[in-house]
Amino acid sequence: MTSRAEARDPELSKPCRWDNCHAQPGERCTNRRNLPRETSHPGRREDWVIALVACPDCKAPIDTRCIADDGRPRANIHKPRDQAADDAYAKVLEDASRDVPPGGRR
Ligand SMILES: [Zn+2]
Ligand SMILES: [Zn+2]
Repeated sequence: MTSRAEARDPELSKPCRWDNCHAQPGERCTNRRNLPRETSHPGRREDWVIALVACPDCKAPIDTRCIADDGRPRANIHKPRDQAADDAYAKVLEDASRDVPPGGRR
């Protein structure tokens, strides 16, 4: 089951690898004073995106970091991949809320 917090911030299903944070799956990221952050650390969101969708831009497959023009892994992900993850996740939520058996749609 996905909790309500995860539905809004799906990257919470991943642990955070940010230094001084290291939030566990299901926990919010925290700042230096150990207070919950409004948003997750950028790397956490990227880990989630990378595990969910391939990149439409550089064609990096799922679980593989985006690739730069020189063939080396990029420090961050391509914008279209971020968008593709949002779209894919919106569809997952939509399907889950509709509760239609496979093939049940016209
Ligand atoms: Zn974090
Ligand atoms: Zn990419």
